[in-house]
Amino acid sequence: MDKAYLDKFYKKSLTERMDALVDANILSSDDLLLNEGLLLSDELADNMIENYLITYQLPLGAALNFLVDGKDYVVPMAIEEPSVIAAASSGAKIIAQAGGFKTTISERIMIGQVALKNIPDISLAKSNLTNHKKDILKKANAAHPSIVNRGGGAKDLSIRVIEQDEEAATPEFLIVHIHIATMEAMGANIINTMMEGITGYLETLTGGTALMSILSNYATECLATATCQIPVHLLKRNDFSGEDIRDRLIEAGQLAYVDPYRAVTHNKGIMNGIDAIVLASGNDWRAISAGVHAYASRSGQYRALSSWRKAENGDLIGDLTLPLPVGSVGGSISIHPAAQFSKRLLGYQSAKELEAVIVSVGLAQNFSALKALVTEGIQKGHMGLQARSLAISAGATGKAIEQVSEQLKYAKNMNLATAKELLQEILSLEE
Ligand code: NDP
Repeated sequence: MDKAYLDKFYKKSLTERMDALVDANILSSDDLLLNEGLLLSDELADNMIENYLITYQLPLGAALNFLVDGKDYVVPMAIEEPSVIAAASSGAKIIAQAGGFKTTISERIMIGQVALKNIPDISLAKSNLTNHKKDILKKANAAHPSIVNRGGGAKDLSIRVIEQDEEAATPEFLIVHIHIATMEAMGANIINTMMEGITGYLETLTGGTALMSILSNYATECLATATCQIPVHLLKRNDFSGEDIRDRLIEAGQLAYVDPYRAVTHNKGIMNGIDAIVLASGNDWRAISAGVHAYASRSGQYRALSSWRKAENGDLIGDLTLPLPVGSVGGSISIHPAAQFSKRLLGYQSAKELEAVIVSVGLAQNFSALKALVTEGIQKGHMGLQARSLAISAGATGKAIEQVSEQLKYAKNMNLATAKELLQEILSLEE
C-alpha cells in the first residue's frame, strides 16, 4: 500500500477517492468500472431471502490509518450514522503514531449444543457420554466430513447440567457441548448439521429426550484481543494536557465497568465500528452482536468490553477482547458483490486476520468516543456531521447542502426548523 495517495482522503471527491485507492495499490482499476456491478441484482436478492421486494441500501465508506500487527489497512464500513468513520480514522491515526494495534487471536473453536431433558439418571448419562466421547465426535464429523478434510471438525465434548429451578418452573437440562473447529467459516450451518447428526445417538446414550440441537452464538472459544499503548504527548488536546486526558479516559472506562447504564452506551460506541465492518464484510452481525453483549455480562453484570489503564512509564494502555466468530467464506460473503469489494479493499487473507482488524476497529472507536466525551463532549464533532443530514432533511440539494450545514454549525439551535430557515434564506438570495 502506498499511503501517500490517501492523504486528505476526506477532502477528495468520490472519483478522486476511488482513483487514490487504485494509485495506492489497494483496489485494481477494474474496481473503478464496477459501481453498477456492486449492486445486488433482483435475481440474487430474491435467492437470498424470502418474499424479496427491494434492496435497502447503506453507504459504505473507508476508515483510514489502521496499523494492525505491523500491516496497514483501509477498512470498509457500512453504516448510516455520520461521524463513525471519521472517529474510527482519527482514533486509529493517533494509535498508528504510537505503533499501532497488537492483536492476539485464539484458536477458532465454535460450540454446538444438544439440550436434553427427562434424563432418568444424570450421573449414568454423564458417564455414558464421557465413555463414548470418541464415538460421539466421530458421528459428528461423519455428519459433515468436508470440514474434517479441511483440517477442522469436532474436537472435544463437554457436559453441563442445568438444575431444575422450581421458582422459574424450568426442568433439569443436560446440555452436551461439542467444540468444533470451523476453519474459515463462521460455521452455523456446519455446526447445526453436526448437532442434528448426533442427536439420536445422544438420546440413546442418556435415555433422555432432545429439546433442540443448534450452535451457540456465545463463542467463548473464539476470542480476539486488541491492545494499544499511547504516549501521553499524543493525547494532548486544546486546554487538556495528555496526562489529564489519560486519567479522565481511564476513569471513563472505570465508570463503564461499574455502571450498566453507562456500559451499554460505552459498548454501543464500540459496536458502531464493529457492526459496520462486520456488515460490510458480509458476515452475520446479529450473531456477533448477540455474542458480544453476552460476553459483556460474563461476570454477572453488564460491563464495559474495553479497559484502559496507566502503564508504568505513564502511557495509556487500552485493550478490548471480544468473541468474533466471523468467516472469510460462507453465508453471503462469497455471493454479495459488496462483500467481495470489501474483501479487496481490506485485503484480508483469513478469518483470523479479519478478526484482528475488527477488534482493532472497536478499540479505535472506543478511544475516539471516550477522548471526545472527557474533553469537549461528543456533540461538537458529531453535530458537525449531523448538520449535513439536517440540511438534506430540510430539502437542500447540491451546493446548498454544504452552505446550510456550515451555517447550522454556528446557529443557536441546530435543528430541522433552523435548517429549513437557512435553506429558505439561501434560496431567496439566489433568486
Ligand atoms: P455456509 O454453510 O454458507 O458455508 C460454510 C461452507 O463453506 C462449509 O461448509 C464449507 O463447505 C465451505 N468452505 C469453503 N472453504 C472453507 C474453509 N476454508 N473453511 C471452512 N469452510 C469452507 O456458512 P456457515 O456454516 O459458516 O454458516 C453461516 C451462515 O449461517 C450465515 O449466513 C448465518 O447468517 C447463518 N445462520 C446463523 C445462525 C446463527 O448464528 N444462530 C443460525 C443459522 C444460520 P464444503 O467443505 O462442503 O465445501
